Amino acid sequence: MNPVESLFARNRSWASRHVAGDPSFFTRHIAGQKPHTLWLGCSDSRVAPELLTGSRIGELFVHRNIANMISQDDESLMSVLLYAVDVLNVTNIILCGHYGCGGVLAALKMKESAGLSACNPLERRVSALRQGLEADISGLGGCQCHADVADKLVEAHLRVQFERLQALPVVQQAWGQQQSLTLWGCVFDIGSGQLKELMRTHGRTEE
Ligand SMILES: [Zn+2]
Repeated sequence: MNPVESLFARNRSWASRHVAGDPSFFTRHIAGQKPHTLWLGCSDSRVAPELLTGSRIGELFVHRNIANMISQDDESLMSVLLYAVDVLNVTNIILCGHYGCGGVLAALKMKESAGLSACNPLERRVSALRQGLEADISGLGGCQCHADVADKLVEAHLRVQFERLQALPVVQQAWGQQQSLTLWGCVFDIGSGQLKELMRTHGRTEE
């Protein structure tokens, strides 16, 4: 069977299984959504937010991109953030990176940032990621191939992106208006299935 045909078949089975156990399982969501959390994560196929958190329908509002990057120039990301914070009034934003992230590994392999000379969106993205990690990568010296080095860079990358997230006007304005909004920075370990919290802030007081 074509893999997409298989997906459709599994969808039909999933839908009928839930309706059999709970006739209003889907219809009760028709009126609208009230997710408590915005998930910002990597597009990696192994880091599926609803699966790894066991989320129910309507809990997570989700945006994913390569290497979970935060950029004010990213209109898609910024519109998701505005809608989540200003309209849906989510009370949490999870920024989730993951060990073994291809974007971070590609940045590590780059000799140096190609900057604007990069010739396609993917290269520009990896180049921007590399720029944010320049200090961490040069601090490694020659020893750049061990898995624990890559893991540390994934965490450093998350810290860089977390700082950018905190500094965004939409987040600062929410905090300025006393809106309840907690930011969580975490890393998913593909090998163990565990989500590890690295940092958390709800505005003025760090935890
Ligand atoms: Zn990734």
